[in-house]
Amino acid sequence: MDKKKNLTFEPKSGWLQLKDKEINDVMKYNEDYKKFLNVAKTERLAALEIIRQAEEVGFVDINKILEKGKKIKPGTKIFVNNKNKSIGLFIMGKQPLENGMNIVGSHIDSPRLDFKPNPIYEDGHISLAKTHYYGGVKKYQWTTIPLAIHGVLFKKNGEQVNVAIGDSPEDPVFCVTDLLIHLSKAQMQKKMAEAVTGEMMNVVLGNIPLKDEKEGEAVKLGVLSILMDKYGITEEDFLMAEIEVVPAGDARDLGLDRSMVLSYGQDDRVCAYATLNAIIDIEDPEFTACALFMDKEEIGSYGNTGMDSYFLENTIHELISLEGEYSALKVRRAMKNSKVLSADVTAAYDPDFPEVMEKQNTCYLGFGVAVSKYGGSGGKGGSNDANAEFLAELRKTFADNDVAWQIGEMGKVDAGGGGTIAYLLSRYGMEVVDCGTPVLNMHSPNEISSKVDNYMTMKAYKAFMK
Ligand code: MN
Ligand code: MN
Repeated sequence: MDKKKNLTFEPKSGWLQLKDKEINDVMKYNEDYKKFLNVAKTERLAALEIIRQAEEVGFVDINKILEKGKKIKPGTKIFVNNKNKSIGLFIMGKQPLENGMNIVGSHIDSPRLDFKPNPIYEDGHISLAKTHYYGGVKKYQWTTIPLAIHGVLFKKNGEQVNVAIGDSPEDPVFCVTDLLIHLSKAQMQKKMAEAVTGEMMNVVLGNIPLKDEKEGEAVKLGVLSILMDKYGITEEDFLMAEIEVVPAGDARDLGLDRSMVLSYGQDDRVCAYATLNAIIDIEDPEFTACALFMDKEEIGSYGNTGMDSYFLENTIHELISLEGEYSALKVRRAMKNSKVLSADVTAAYDPDFPEVMEKQNTCYLGFGVAVSKYGGSGGKGGSNDANAEFLAELRKTFADNDVAWQIGEMGKVDAGGGGTIAYLLSRYGMEVVDCGTPVLNMHSPNEISSKVDNYMTMKAYKAFMK
């Protein structure tokens, strides 16, 4: 007996696990994924695109079904739009809902810069906008790069205005400045966290002063008059608006072999797209398939569009009532009997920073979808530690469906840590495990994923939900 082969475990690159011609599927999948990234720059835009693609394959708005009042049958495809920021897609199973769902839960918000309520000002004959960063960002990474602005305002009369500037090739872009190296003697001595502060994250908007303006702030007025001409909005309309600043430009292939994707927003739209692509391809599942695309994960999952809300629970109450005779107990059972892949990215091994990784228990770019039994930090603190029984089921599902997968921890035991929406679902009694794509440069304006991992993430979710 070949003891080395039979007794030891040797991880293998996902690229080497692909079957003949599957490489074409990998590349095609990632072309569509890049298109998704380019249109889904914010949680609102992602939600819109998810509904568009879902409707194309027959998902129906739950409100339309509720209006008709007719009972739903197995195989029915339903979407639930939660305030244009988080979405649930459901395909009713052959089994009644109370027997549980197979849920894949991703999030569609990403770190970014949000306009402050009163953002626009002028200083040094430049007009700028003040921002408050959203989520965990290394602020210095967001300076000197082209930025785009996407958002929603309401005029006094209630009319909604959608703003999108910087992502069309003919558009201008925006920028946060950084100090020239020549004058950075003092800045360079500062800690990284202090060298660029939150109050320095101001976005350059314009430089042409309004002619004949004598009161001062002529440049700011120049910018405001352009906004009036283009969108019919005034400074006051910004006070209660939602304006998001994100890196401008499209997702790109990375590497001579075009094996990777370089783009903003891959945490967590890489898992969100995999979830969407998987459920779109499913017909008549045994158990109800549920794809969640949540908001606010990057700031703690709070708010009525985050996973900590009753969005899912409320929806299951509605679905139980649409399925047959309603009872609250059935809702409890539906939740308790469910299984969840918490679909979020994890850290891949970074060759430049080996000191924070433990090589034998880290995930590698290109080695397939990543399972994390537990997250948290410092002694598994705050982690949902998945049960071995559930993981054993998952192992079989992956083996039966040729899913290349790996398992690892996010960094060394005492290096730090992170969490996902997993714990918010596990409290119902659901079996939950973190399962997503490993990335480099996480939370930066240009995150890196490997195309084979992106594809295997989709394959894993499809195998789990079908
Ligand atoms: Mn995430
Ligand atoms: Mn994140």
